[in-house]
Amino acid sequence: MRERLKQVLQSKFKLKNFREGQEDIIKEVLAGSDILAMLPTGGGKSLCYQLPAYLMDGPILIVSPLLSLMEDQVEQIKQRGEKSVVALNSTMTFQQRKYALENLGKFKYIYASPEILRMEAVIVALQSAGISLFVVDEAHCISQWGHDFRPDYSKLGTLKNKLNNPPCLALTATATREVIRDIVHILHFPEGYKEFIYSINRPNIALSVEKYSSSDEKIARLIHLARELKGPGIIYCSSRLWTERIAHQLKASGIHDVGFYHGGMEQEQRILIQQQFLYNQLKIVCCTNAFGMGVNKQNIRYVIHFHFPSQLESYMQEIGRSGRDGLPSIAITLLTDADYEIPKSLVESEFPSYDKLTKTIYYLQENNQKDVSNENIMQYIGLNEIQLRYIQKFLTEKVEPETLISSIWEEIQTRVQIKYKKLNAMTFWISTKQCRRMEILQYFNEKLEWKAKPKNCCDYCGIHYEDYLGESLKKEFEIKLSWRAELDDIFGRVSD
Ligand code: ADP
Ligand code: MG
Repeated sequence: MRERLKQVLQSKFKLKNFREGQEDIIKEVLAGSDILAMLPTGGGKSLCYQLPAYLMDGPILIVSPLLSLMEDQVEQIKQRGEKSVVALNSTMTFQQRKYALENLGKFKYIYASPEILRMEAVIVALQSAGISLFVVDEAHCISQWGHDFRPDYSKLGTLKNKLNNPPCLALTATATREVIRDIVHILHFPEGYKEFIYSINRPNIALSVEKYSSSDEKIARLIHLARELKGPGIIYCSSRLWTERIAHQLKASGIHDVGFYHGGMEQEQRILIQQQFLYNQLKIVCCTNAFGMGVNKQNIRYVIHFHFPSQLESYMQEIGRSGRDGLPSIAITLLTDADYEIPKSLVESEFPSYDKLTKTIYYLQENNQKDVSNENIMQYIGLNEIQLRYIQKFLTEKVEPETLISSIWEEIQTRVQIKYKKLNAMTFWISTKQCRRMEILQYFNEKLEWKAKPKNCCDYCGIHYEDYLGESLKKEFEIKLSWRAELDDIFGRVSD
């Protein structure tokens, strides 16, 4: 068996050896188990389902959260010479979709979003295609989004049953015990399912938090870092406006190869920025959390959080985009006191207020027979799209408005509590007075072995910033250092 796997690894993927975890997971996939696997970002999770495809009969279905991620995976598969791959998504023309659905059984890999998997025609086609493995990539999304604005995530277990219960592989790089329990529950895993949990530590990424007393100071520091650090780099901001503002500021201070990226931009524009960054025409992307998932760029040297995210899971995902080539990289969070308010208001804005919830339910009831558009409701009540989607999730049940309102409100309270708990863990980590690596790993139930502590660990354990400077600055620094050493030799060390 071992030989056979190695042979496929070499012939189909042109890779020499398995990375930690891959072989064990693949063997278990082939044995037909239901599996939850946690490997670090960039650890090679895709291979765990892409390789078994050559040893199983019938296509593999991969549930993937984002269009860009799907397209990226499809592109990579095609590049290694495998043509029988398709992504079912909303950008397909009617003809394309018809052809794909009629020929589903012929594909090796079928990528799909949870939303497209709701369509009856798609389910029927998948049923007759005879799916051999049901993969949920980025499975933490089940827990992160399934309860809120992407309810289709929470129906994946039912879908799996409809597809005749093929073995299931859930992959993630960031799941706490609680999130794992959620995934396992939603995907209807049986008692004896298998767990493969490997260290999600990324020893080549140094972790740092820097505090400033004002936003202006923070921007000045950001400009300084963007000038000095070896790129390419990603700068995460909390809002669309900030990404544009920061990109503008960097450009104004003479740093030119900078772009911005957020969900409010036209798709073409977003693809353009992503491509330019991938092919090194842009050195820095200022973005919201809409950017990054599926950006398989090996040489990202730093990730700066101009605003910190609302949970450690997201932080870990975002910094994990750097240093996939294993070379030294750094994650820096820039902080002011005012920043603590941002994620709080983001959490709150995900859900409707009690007042708006009540108004929406009654409005919908009054206009029961009429065809009111989402835009109409949003405008009339003053809801955003996420809030409306959240309410709509509950509308399938036929109950009295009062009962419905109070049950939705109860659910909202619980969700807000969970999100606040995660946010608290994030802010606690930011203000920690001990090793950041140890602390973040502890959050994911992992103990940092003393010997696994890297030279550049975190701002508490010490970071050699010169390791991250651009080439020219590094040289200057080395000259300074060697001068200093010579002077020290001559005069003896003078205390500074
Ligand atoms: P993730 O775990 O984040 O999903 P990917 O599956 O996208 O990671 O893999 C990240 C990179 O690692 C890819 O470029 C992939 O080709 C490479 N990779 C995966 N497995 C191996 C391996 N066994 N040997 C060398 N490179 C590998
Ligand atoms: Mg992946």
